Amino acid sequence: MIIAIAYFISSALFLLGLRDITHPSTARRGTSLAALGMFIAVVGTLLHQDIVDYRWIVAGLVIGTIIGIPMGLKIPMTKMPERIALSHSFGGIAIALVGVVEYYRHAGVMTAVQMGTIGFEVFFGAVTFTGSLMAFGKLQELLPGRPMTFPKQNIITVGSIAVAIALIFFLVVSPTSTGIFNLLLVLSFVLGVLVVLPIGGADMPVVICLLNSYAGLAASASGFALNNMVLIICGALDGGSGFILALLMCKAMNRSFSNVLFGAFGTVVAAPKSAATAEKPTIRSGTPEEVAQLFKQAKSVIVIPGYGMAVAQAQHTVRELASILEKNGTTVKYAIHPVAGRMPGHMNVLLAEADIPYDKLIDMDDINPEFPHTDISLVIGANDVVNPAAKTDTASPIYGMPILDVESSKLVMVLKRSMNPGFAGIDNELFIRPNTMMVFGDAKQTLLKIT
Ligand code: NDP
Repeated sequence: MIIAIAYFISSALFLLGLRDITHPSTARRGTSLAALGMFIAVVGTLLHQDIVDYRWIVAGLVIGTIIGIPMGLKIPMTKMPERIALSHSFGGIAIALVGVVEYYRHAGVMTAVQMGTIGFEVFFGAVTFTGSLMAFGKLQELLPGRPMTFPKQNIITVGSIAVAIALIFFLVVSPTSTGIFNLLLVLSFVLGVLVVLPIGGADMPVVICLLNSYAGLAASASGFALNNMVLIICGALDGGSGFILALLMCKAMNRSFSNVLFGAFGTVVAAPKSAATAEKPTIRSGTPEEVAQLFKQAKSVIVIPGYGMAVAQAQHTVRELASILEKNGTTVKYAIHPVAGRMPGHMNVLLAEADIPYDKLIDMDDINPEFPHTDISLVIGANDVVNPAAKTDTASPIYGMPILDVESSKLVMVLKRSMNPGFAGIDNELFIRPNTMMVFGDAKQTLLKIT
């Protein structure tokens, strides 16, 4: 009874937490509620009568804490996607292993439904494990970030998924076929690699969300297998929200879901350089002093933050500059691209940390019509999300992705260290446009000098 109440309270807290994280002003409370929900769920589970020996549990708790606390404290915000990918892989392998243990303990006495759920649990858990490790490798640049493809890839992947599902059905009919179970396990590990390798470049946000979803589905399936209500609810919430986020990311990038999964987006196109680039264009660069003079005359400024702002940890300096500009009578707004940075909501989190009011953070669709009436667009470490090739260059791997229309403002200032490309690995013609001024250097140092 106590366990059922604990599970009920924790499920309610997960729902409240999810509701709260839909808005920046309540997001902090939302994560605390969800964490409390998880704590209550764990305590409830530890009260279970079936637990006869706590030694292994304590050992796991100690090892997990020793690894988890430094991970949480030391890993910087810029490495969050890598950390999330690793967490998904831990979750995936844990769930797959629970499935393996359940299978070997009870295969002889399992009902068809239990066998089916264990099959799906092991399938999703193993796919999440290797898929997340692949995603980690790509984000950490241990593996090439671009899509990696081989002949007949899509046929092999879809065929392997069909075989895995067929194996699960076979197990439902004949649960004691351990050879089939082992084959399913190995095939699922291989599938995790197959589904993530061909996705890369600017599509990585979708992969992260999808792996989130797979981890949730695995947890939910394990809830059915273990008859554990809180796992079913929590897994379904995780699986559902991860899937919705993946769809939202696809929409933000103007890409269909199937295209992301099977289109190998981000493949480096041979020499996509424009004529302008080939002719060695003149790059107009300015010093922080010149920038400061131009700011003095500006009536309206839109700040466009990107991954480089996160790397430089320049968000507080941005706010200081904005305060000075506002005191000088300039209006300052912030344009948020849905895939700027390296995780969904990355820019919102950083700007909120610097106490920039939420009503000044404006989504892409709402801010784009404002650029033609804006004096200065201040691009801070953003690159792919302001690349005009997405609108004009049909050969570009990001063609079709909606971008922030900064080039239509009177003057564009780009703060970055070099002419190097961003995550998608492609050149950006914005940097050589006549109304663009490059200000080279670390974004925080440059902003400090301007301020
Ligand atoms: P980009 O990755 O396109 O560009 C970031 C730029 O920041 C680089 O060109 C780099 O140039 C510059 N930079 C790096 N460090 C500094 C620094 N210290 N000071 C100043 N500039 C710096 O970033 P965007 O935000 O424009 O786009 C995000 C990209 O990441 C998209 O392609 C997106 O699809 C992808 N992505 C997004 C995820 C998400 O969930 N949001 C997840 C995974 C990938 P330089 O080296 O010259 O300084």
